[in-house]
Amino acid sequence: MDRSGAGDNNKETETLNLLTSTQVVIQDVLKRLGLPQGVFEILKEPLRMLDVRIPVRMDDGSVKVFSGFRAQHNDSVGPTIGGIRFHPKTNSDEVKALAMWMSMKCGIADIPFGGGKGGIICNPRALSFGELERLSRGYVRAISQIVGPTKDVPAPDMYTNSQIMGWMMDEYSRLRKFDSPGFITGKPLVLGGSEGREEAGALGAAICIEEAAKIKGLPLKGARVVIQGFGNAGSFIAKFMQQSGAIVVGISDVYGALYNPDGLNIDYLLSRRDSFGTVTSMFDGTITNEELLEQECDILVPAAVSNQITALNAQNIRAKIVVEAANGPTTIEGTRILSERGILLVPDVLAGSGGVTVSYFEWVQNKQGYYWNEEEVKNKLRKKMTSAFQQVYEISQYTNVNMRIAAYMVGVKKLIEASQFRGWI
Ligand code: GLU
Repeated sequence: MDRSGAGDNNKETETLNLLTSTQVVIQDVLKRLGLPQGVFEILKEPLRMLDVRIPVRMDDGSVKVFSGFRAQHNDSVGPTIGGIRFHPKTNSDEVKALAMWMSMKCGIADIPFGGGKGGIICNPRALSFGELERLSRGYVRAISQIVGPTKDVPAPDMYTNSQIMGWMMDEYSRLRKFDSPGFITGKPLVLGGSEGREEAGALGAAICIEEAAKIKGLPLKGARVVIQGFGNAGSFIAKFMQQSGAIVVGISDVYGALYNPDGLNIDYLLSRRDSFGTVTSMFDGTITNEELLEQECDILVPAAVSNQITALNAQNIRAKIVVEAANGPTTIEGTRILSERGILLVPDVLAGSGGVTVSYFEWVQNKQGYYWNEEEVKNKLRKKMTSAFQQVYEISQYTNVNMRIAAYMVGVKKLIEASQFRGWI
């Protein structure tokens, strides 16, 4: 979900580039792990990056050429995996950084994949259904040489959904001339999708919220939660929080935010949101996204875009726990300030690993041709998330680092170990 104005705090420009700030964290972690900086050369960027240009016949008969990317950060552990985003502001550096975070997520969730990511620069709101389909199919043709069920497995991300995954799976299957459900995850159920995939990212974050609340001695029943973003992640998190007895006091979308200290009517808001997660434009008296982040609450869940909690506002965050359901919502300085203030920050590479974990389950089910029910998927996800959370939290405690550094330690170690056994380093 995009937000006008948000994240444009250019006083902190040195940390707002997602790729360079990720490199800073990786360098820090290598130092702490006592690993030679030479290893950084392998990890600092994706091992493979493909830039593509996709001609698409538009409804008015003209042809428009869209730019896209596919990044494969590291395939030492196994094939790469990761979503494809459709966004007007995506770019090469962002996709590279997102692929690196996927490597971390896979390592932390302990699944046999490395990180990948894709993106197309486009505004999906401005495309018709037919144009969206032709763009999706064109992208698959453009990247088909480097993807596949045992090479690189795409998935949904910002502004892409199960319908788009369905078109992409069909295009890939046609190219390969055999049905290939394991080429992509996040598919509709009838095409080999997994039960529980749609809400997996949100459930993973909700499990992290439960674990973080236990550590802080905060009962979830009655806890006040602010969620920035009401897209796939934000809306399902709101629902899960409500089911746990928490009170969702704030939500937002690209146009603004709603805050009510007595709680919002989540069921009503869910029934009125559109497929892009937009709902606040129906209301008068909204506040800005920036204002929402600084409202009184117990738990803050940034579930929208990157660079939201920065050196400029981290001092004003009033939550006790911040759980990052978005990718990259807190900058390095923002992380430092929150940690110094004793706010428990559960990083994106941990809290956001539920989606890729169930993508892995979907791939496994496609391979075995036998499908699990929703309860089985959710139980397996819960097991993976709680053990990932506990491992990262314990490392953060005994090495006296914040949970982001601890999470990267887990992810980086796994890549190094695999690279060593392969003889790469
Ligand atoms: N796009 C999600 C993420 O950023 C899920 C990726 C996946 O399912 O592989 O983690």
